[in-house]
Amino acid sequence: MIAKIYFGSQEVEKEKVTQRVSPYSGEIVSKAPVCDRDDVKRALEIAKEALKQTRKTTIAQRCSWLLDVAQKLKQNKEDIAKTITDEVGKPITFARVEVERCIETITLSAETMRTMHGETINTDAMASGKKTTAFFIREPAGVVAAITPFNFPLNLIAHKLAPALAAGNTVVLKPTPEAPLTAYKFAKLFIQSKYAVKDALSVVYGDAEVGDALVRSDIPRVISFTGSVPVGNIITKSAGIKKVSLELGGNAATYIDKSADLDLAAARCALGAFVNSGQVCISLQRIYVNAEIYDEFASKMAQESKKLIVGSPYDDDTFMGPLIDDDACQRAMGWVESAIKEGAVAMLPPRVEGRLFYPCLMADVRDDMAIVCEEVFAPIVSLVKVESFDDALPRMNNSPYGLQFSIFTNDLKLTQRAIYELDAGGVVINDMPTLRFDIQPYGGVKLSGIGREGPRFAIEEMSEIKSVVIC
Ligand code: NAD
Repeated sequence: MIAKIYFGSQEVEKEKVTQRVSPYSGEIVSKAPVCDRDDVKRALEIAKEALKQTRKTTIAQRCSWLLDVAQKLKQNKEDIAKTITDEVGKPITFARVEVERCIETITLSAETMRTMHGETINTDAMASGKKTTAFFIREPAGVVAAITPFNFPLNLIAHKLAPALAAGNTVVLKPTPEAPLTAYKFAKLFIQSKYAVKDALSVVYGDAEVGDALVRSDIPRVISFTGSVPVGNIITKSAGIKKVSLELGGNAATYIDKSADLDLAAARCALGAFVNSGQVCISLQRIYVNAEIYDEFASKMAQESKKLIVGSPYDDDTFMGPLIDDDACQRAMGWVESAIKEGAVAMLPPRVEGRLFYPCLMADVRDDMAIVCEEVFAPIVSLVKVESFDDALPRMNNSPYGLQFSIFTNDLKLTQRAIYELDAGGVVINDMPTLRFDIQPYGGVKLSGIGREGPRFAIEEMSEIKSVVIC
């Protein structure tokens, strides 16, 4: 099936299309129009013009729109989940979970927008402010350019579209080239809703050139980007004067204290390291284990990892499907092989069949090995023996990334230290770092990004404060 461009509410086909093949079967699963800079320009101009319409809408209207989309998504859950599986190879059970999360994200954005408000400001606290009344309101920022990655091809679009539209902006979306049909089917629900604001959403397809045209244009007031650090870096250099929100990569770590519940820690760490085949920005990549319980934890972790079913993403029982492409497999395998050459030990050795990459558990790694210090984005996790939290802490923090960390402990003092001393956008206590509730503020420090998502926080990023004083 062919994805189509949305120039505002108008659906447009193009002669020139690209084909998307399933990372699992290699079969063609979708096609997408090849867009160019002129298409981007046209979509952005429509979005700019449509702001006149969105400015006339009420929050109530826009919330009805979002809630209608959430309802339609519920009705189309199986079809959209299957499309995610086709295009990016995500196991069907997890694709269904992604659709359910997406319904929550949209619903929450509507509910949040209903209750967001400005504040009164006590100007009479200032020497010259007597008898004045002041407050601030939030206004839509304008046109939002949304650029999204492949690993959550539906819900990460929702994290941009829903807050942006709830806040009264218009949006031009450029989804990942790996899942155009998922994006098209989702956008169609917005555009065909009886509550839709005409031309408030456009969708264009492509990769770097199309993304670059969006970023460089003077029309968008906000660039909302989720993706890799190298592309985030390019965007910061080319965006010019506009708001730029960047949700980038990470190499999440956890510390297993000797007081931890080791069964819980092993089960959750296996999940956090291998879910979505490690293709998660907060995938657990580094496990720092207290020496006193290292052997016990390592053996439990290996047992838990071996239980995970790798195979066809269309089987309900499959936990891990294929990696996104051959390059991802080769890059990950290269890093493991060089770590082994340099003395690391594979407790669960790397095994690849086609693009199925089995759970790989590494030990005796060094801090400078690529599997430790790069973002591996593959099912490879490293165990590091440490003497204490004080030994682990600088090694955990010694990373250019800072998205999420976690700690497993029953020691309250360590919990408190972890909260304040781990250098990341989020800290999880007694679970994997691979944990995100969509209602939370979410984002990173250092190279992991700028700004926060989660409906309330995204609405803040995608709106402008207007300050008012009545004299
Ligand atoms: P990517 O950076 O390769 O691509 C992301 C998007 O950017 C795609 O739509 C792509 O077409 C577009 N793009 C490419 N070049 C561009 C350019 N020059 N200008 C503008 N847009 C351009 O990322 P990916 O491989 O799809 O996704 C994996 C990465 O995303 C990982 O690094 C992962 O950690 C990160 N990620 C981060 C979060 C988060 O919330 N922090 C969530 C998911 C994924």
